[in-house]
Amino acid sequence: MNYISTRGTITPIGFKDAVMMGLATDGGLLLPETIPALDRSTLEAWRTLSYQELAFNVMSLFATDMPAGDLKRLIDTSYATFTHAEITPVVKKDGVHILELFHGPTLAFKDVALQFLGNLFEYLLKERGERMNIVGATSGDTGSAAIYGVRGKENINIFILHPHGKTSPVQALQMTTVLDPNVHNIAARGTFDDCQNIVKSLFNDLPFKERYALGAVNSINWARVLAQVVYYFYAYFRVAEPFGSEVVFSVPTGNFGDIFAGYVAKRMGLPVQKLLLATNENNILARFVTEGDYSLGDVVPTVSPSMDIQLASNFERYLFYLFDEDPARVCQAFAALPTKGRIDFSPAEMARVRDEFISRSVNETETIETISSFHAETGYILDPHTAVGVKAARELVTDGTPAICLATAHPAKFAEAVVRAVGFEPPRPASLEGIEQLPSRCQLLDADRDSIKAFIEEKAR
Ligand SMILES: *Cc1c(COP(=O)(O)O)cnc(C)c1O
Repeated sequence: MNYISTRGTITPIGFKDAVMMGLATDGGLLLPETIPALDRSTLEAWRTLSYQELAFNVMSLFATDMPAGDLKRLIDTSYATFTHAEITPVVKKDGVHILELFHGPTLAFKDVALQFLGNLFEYLLKERGERMNIVGATSGDTGSAAIYGVRGKENINIFILHPHGKTSPVQALQMTTVLDPNVHNIAARGTFDDCQNIVKSLFNDLPFKERYALGAVNSINWARVLAQVVYYFYAYFRVAEPFGSEVVFSVPTGNFGDIFAGYVAKRMGLPVQKLLLATNENNILARFVTEGDYSLGDVVPTVSPSMDIQLASNFERYLFYLFDEDPARVCQAFAALPTKGRIDFSPAEMARVRDEFISRSVNETETIETISSFHAETGYILDPHTAVGVKAARELVTDGTPAICLATAHPAKFAEAVVRAVGFEPPRPASLEGIEQLPSRCQLLDADRDSIKAFIEEKAR
């Protein structure tokens, strides 16, 4: 299987090269040349597989240059860190199916992809005799999941910038209590945007980027999408009755990464009636689906902060398919976006979008109310991101089709919003117990590019 760019100008490359490339060198995103279509007998044969066996079957269709034994071993190692035997179990509460994606080491769904990507990076770097210094900015969830993905790995260092005092206390502690020598936390005296701008400028400093072999772990890496495709199949097999009938997946969305993985599963032949794209007040994607209006607004802070995004980086992958795999049309849309502030779609394109997606934006009051009423009805505590998806599903999926709501974080990660909704702190899982008492290490620096660059130069290997 070869990989091409949404912008159309790179020579096709294999899976391993695509993982190492991350962002396509022509500025686009990498996609497989074709998406394999599965027949019903293959799906039937996959029904009873364990999570790890299913992951191997899905991934080996796309990672054709990996020896089977190596891929199996990487998958087994990656999911051995999860605390639930099923990895991503589905629970049913009050008619709603909840796909729990938060049983990994940092209690959010990003672990499913980043545990795998960390092991894959280590394997590929070893094979090539190379090393990598990962540099990234985080407002909370991605940083800790990336740190846990690569902690203790020989040929990788990781530098994560977070805005000092502006993440939730638990999110900061999840990062700074990791003491492995290859992990470097930087608390910058500034905002998340300051952190992100500094990271961008370091990646644009090409001599620096080359000398230190800078690598990224953001959600544009194809391996992250691929790892997430697996749980759509896994959940379908737990819920669909009779086999072959359709389901809806409700996906709380920020960067369009998670829901794009669902789109890939649907294109592979999984019987998905609709993908429900649920957003908070940062609703550009909901406006796109419901009104055909893809115009940039300002980011507003919400109780579901991991979805506080306007420009969804993975959206370009979907546009490639919407534009009939025509890279010229993708280039045209993105060339005009900064000046026009919008992308326009034809009525025929919008008809296709609405054939595949439904969408709703859920505001803060509705989110808190949903956590509260769901708890009152079922005794189950939703995190605010998951609550956005549950509310959207309850409003939009009313024809009896089973709705599978993706639970993207454990409620204990967002205790403040939960307390507002139910009046008490959600019970903490073992990995958070006593975290405030653990030793921690973090460098406090000004949000200044040169000081941060100097710190990286001192610690990089
Ligand atoms: C990152 C994140 C999301 C959004 O996922 P995307 O792939 O960016 O759409 C939703 N919920 C939580 C808890 C997250 O950490």
